[in-house]
Amino acid sequence: MEFIDLKSQMKRIRSDLDRRLTGILDSGQFIMGPEVGMLEGELSKYVGVKHAITCANGTDALQIALMSLGVGPGDEVITTPFTFIANAEAIALLGAKPVFVDIDPHTYNLVPEQIASKITSKTKAIMPVSLYGQMPDFEKINQIASQAGIAVIEDAAQSFGAEQNGKKSGAVSRIAATSFFPSKPLGCYGDGGALFTNDDNIAVQMRLIRSHGQKTRYNHVLVGVNSRLDTLQAGVLLEKLKIFPDEVQKREQIGLRYNQLLEGSVQTPVIASGNLSVFSQYTIRVKNRDQVVDALKTKGIPTSVHYPQPVHLQAAFKHLNYSLGSFPQSELAAQQVLSLPMHPYLESQVQDEIVAAVKAVAISS
Ligand SMILES: *Cc1c(COP(=O)(O)O)cnc(C)c1O
Repeated sequence: MEFIDLKSQMKRIRSDLDRRLTGILDSGQFIMGPEVGMLEGELSKYVGVKHAITCANGTDALQIALMSLGVGPGDEVITTPFTFIANAEAIALLGAKPVFVDIDPHTYNLVPEQIASKITSKTKAIMPVSLYGQMPDFEKINQIASQAGIAVIEDAAQSFGAEQNGKKSGAVSRIAATSFFPSKPLGCYGDGGALFTNDDNIAVQMRLIRSHGQKTRYNHVLVGVNSRLDTLQAGVLLEKLKIFPDEVQKREQIGLRYNQLLEGSVQTPVIASGNLSVFSQYTIRVKNRDQVVDALKTKGIPTSVHYPQPVHLQAAFKHLNYSLGSFPQSELAAQQVLSLPMHPYLESQVQDEIVAAVKAVAISS
C-alpha cells in the first residue's frame, strides 16, 4: 500500500505528459521556457488572483514573499510552531525573528485571537500556515493585520485547491506561497513553488527577486535569489492541473469518508465551517501512537507523523529560548498526531482496511 499513490496519477496523464515533456526536450528551452508563463497564467486563473509567480520551491516562495516586504534583521514575523521547519527557517535566514502563536487542538491551525498580543513595533508580517489542507480564519487574521498595518503571507503549501467561504487558498491574503513538492496536493516531479498576489507592486518585486533582481539582462536592480521553476516542471504541472479539480473533489470525498468511519473511535480532523479541505494529510489523534504505527505496519499500512517535534523545540531555534510548556497545544499535538494514507486514488475497500486496523488498536486522545 502507498502512503501517496503517485503511480496511478501518472498512469492517468502519462501519454499527454510524454508529449508535453518531449516537446520541451526538443525545444531546448529549459530555463524560463514558454511553459513557465503558460503555467503562471493557468495558476492565477485557478486561484483567482491577478499574479502568479512560480519559483524553485515552497521554502524559497516564503523567503521571496518576506523579501518583497523588506523583512530583515531585527524584524519579527508571527507564525505557528506546529508546521514544517520552512516558515521559521525562511524568517530566520533573513535575520528576522519567528514569533510563535499556539494552535487550535482541533484544526491544528494557529489561533487568531492569540496574535494581537504578540504584535510589537518590530512585527512586519503574520505568516499563517494552512495546515493539513484547510485554512485558518483569514477574515479574523486579515482584520488583526490591517489594524496593525502589517501584511499577511499565507503558507498554502498544504492547501492549494482549498477554499474558505468560496475563495481559494492563495487568494485571501496580501501574498500567498505554495509548494509543488511531489507529495503536496498539486505536485511536480521535483521541486517547485509559486507565489500569489493581487498587489501589482509586490508582484513586480517578487518577479525581480526570483531571478537575481534582474530587470533586463545583466541589469540587477536589487539583491535577489536564483529561484526559477524549471520548464520541465512547469510542463508536468500544466498536465497535472488539468485533472486537479477532479482530484480535489476526490480528496474531499475520501477525507470526509474517513471522518465518517472513524468518528467516535479517534479524534478526527475538524473542518471549520466555511472551509473546504484538500486533506493534504488525513491526520488523526491517538494516545498510543507508537502502538498504532506498529500495528498498521504489520498489516502493510504506511503512516507518517506531521510533525513529531514543534519548531520552537528544534535545536536550530535554541537561541529563541523557548522551552517545553511554551506552546502546550502544539507540543501535545506533536505527540499524538498520526497521518494515514491519503490521495485521490484511495479505493473504498483499501480505506475500509485502514479504518479497521486503526479501530482495532487506537486509544482515543
Ligand atoms: C512542504 C512545505 C513547505 C516547503 O515547501 P518546499 O517546496 O519543500 O520547500 C513549507 N511549508 C509547509 C507547511 C510545507 O508543508
